[in-house]
Amino acid sequence: MYDAVADAYGFHCSGCSDNCCLTRFFHHTLIEFLYLRKGFADLDESIREEVRYRALNVNEKVLCAEDGGHVSRIMCPLNREGLCILYEYRPMICRLHGIPHEFQHPARNKILGPGCHEFDAQCGQKQYLTFNRTPFYQQMALLERRLREMTGMTDKFKKTVAQMLVKDLEKIL
Ligand code: SF4
Repeated sequence: MYDAVADAYGFHCSGCSDNCCLTRFFHHTLIEFLYLRKGFADLDESIREEVRYRALNVNEKVLCAEDGGHVSRIMCPLNREGLCILYEYRPMICRLHGIPHEFQHPARNKILGPGCHEFDAQCGQKQYLTFNRTPFYQQMALLERRLREMTGMTDKFKKTVAQMLVKDLEKIL
């Protein structure tokens, strides 16, 4: 669906200086964490080591930036030379980012969200084409609920990719 709407705009992302992998997204589901970790576990040990090292660095820099009252824009530790090395396992927001969208919040009015800077540069003058994120969030919520029923886990989950990569699985489950 994302690709169909992006194609309809004629929007093509091939990396940019305002890379969305520099944005500090939080992820809120255990299922995305486990899926990312599944992909991570299949990487060569040397690459895992390198990524863990980068993830630790990212976490430290973010803490420093926060202490200094700054908003951090630090590259995700999974981004290597402009490409995501766990592309097939990336979290949902990494798949949805970039084009203008709408979301029907269960308790509020419809929320409209903008495209990224690169989208604005390429297609900002074009008329909005419907891209509704709601079904994706609903499906994710359903999967998360099933997983939590199976595992009995009730704790809230909120982590960046860098935090997910340095976290021990045993401390989560
Ligand atoms: S997980 Fe992949 S796509 Fe998502 S921010 Fe990190 S490098 Fe970018």
